[in-house]
Amino acid sequence: MRLRIAGCGSLTAVLLIGIACAPAATPSGAGRASTPVRFSAGSALDLRMGLAHDARITAALAQISADTIRVTDSMLVSFGTRHTMSDTLSVTRGIGAARRWVHSTLSRYSRDCGGCLRIEYDTATVVVERHPDKPAIMNVNVLAWLPGRDTSRVVVIGGHYDSCVCAAGGAMARFDTSANAPGADDDGSGTSAVIELARVFARAFPRGFDATVVLALYSGEELGLLGSTALAQRLHRSGYRVVAGMTDDIIGNVVADDGRVDSTSVRVFSGDPDNGPSRELARLVWGLGATYTPELEVVPVFRLDRVGRGGDHAPFWRLGDAGVRFTERLENYKRQHLPTDRLEDVNFGYVARIARLNAAVVASLASAPATPDSARARRDAASGGQYWRLAWKPVPGAHGYEVLLRATTSPTYERVIDVGADTTYLLREQLDDAWGAVRAVGSNGHRSIAAVVPPPTFVAR
Ligand SMILES: [Zn+2]
Repeated sequence: MRLRIAGCGSLTAVLLIGIACAPAATPSGAGRASTPVRFSAGSALDLRMGLAHDARITAALAQISADTIRVTDSMLVSFGTRHTMSDTLSVTRGIGAARRWVHSTLSRYSRDCGGCLRIEYDTATVVVERHPDKPAIMNVNVLAWLPGRDTSRVVVIGGHYDSCVCAAGGAMARFDTSANAPGADDDGSGTSAVIELARVFARAFPRGFDATVVLALYSGEELGLLGSTALAQRLHRSGYRVVAGMTDDIIGNVVADDGRVDSTSVRVFSGDPDNGPSRELARLVWGLGATYTPELEVVPVFRLDRVGRGGDHAPFWRLGDAGVRFTERLENYKRQHLPTDRLEDVNFGYVARIARLNAAVVASLASAPATPDSARARRDAASGGQYWRLAWKPVPGAHGYEVLLRATTSPTYERVIDVGADTTYLLREQLDDAWGAVRAVGSNGHRSIAAVVPPPTFVAR
């Protein structure tokens, strides 16, 4: 929904909150002085940020089923343990049986849509650095590719199907390959949500989107993000442009050990810097959540992950991609990395709510043009340096562009300025005092992740 405010100074502004429009601006010294815009520093933000609603996506969200997700997770738990180094030969127990079941389930979804998904075992030989013997193992992810019209851009969302009893005590608990490790929440919940996206996308979008979607079920997470690291590196090595690398990890618990309950909000973690790709993706997720799934509050957390913890978005973030992690609002540490991570403690209505948010984000990102990451800004000389000239290269498939503005202290954008099909814009603001960004708009109304101008210096750790 977009509110077009007519007569708003010389800007065609789509105003999202109660910010005063700039009066008709005149270059410095060329007439009466204009009053600079005062940014509101986060008060009364409209989180939808000018995002449009797509009825096809809303219809697909309704197909996401808590019952189907429960059945998937119950199957994962039935394999006893899904430890990355557990038995691979048994047909009933261990990670080999688990991944063959995941592969066959995804293959069935693909058969039902005439082969719209490409199912793959994504293998890599990796060294388990955390193990005292540093063994080399074959790590096996299972991937479902939904090819888009542009096969060079990929939107990745994953969950890790491996489990552990890492917290069971003893230095070698992490490498206990025979103990029961149900992993119903960590990360049967995220794995089941991602598999549900495959089922629903195959039915609702068998011809795919603009960008390619990769639904990734990772192994080796508990041993040091082995599967996601291998996939992120493979995608970069193979020349793909990664639109986003997201993970669902621990998304099914709603009761904390102190009795607090929360089934209506989800945390979205994103790594620094505050103007980098991951944070910009988090802002878009925030806006898409408000647009498509307002019953689930997105709680953005502006840090890479929980304190001392890691996840499968981090390898993408490290490579400079946009990466975020979806995680339940309240964790129960007596049920993580332990035999007590049981199916009966997972709330599947809650998992389904998060899966709907995931689906809205993935479908929107894959429907949008690429980010105008060529955007640059320079001071406008004619205004005595009070205005800025923004410019960017045309983005294939873009119908138009929008300039976004926020106070440096505001968590997300406060103004959206429709600049039409132009690839340059005179911003009548002092960019020293704000963050500006440019995003591409498709003819279907979908918006890309925003690119901050001037671009930040990105320093990964
Ligand atoms: Zn996990």
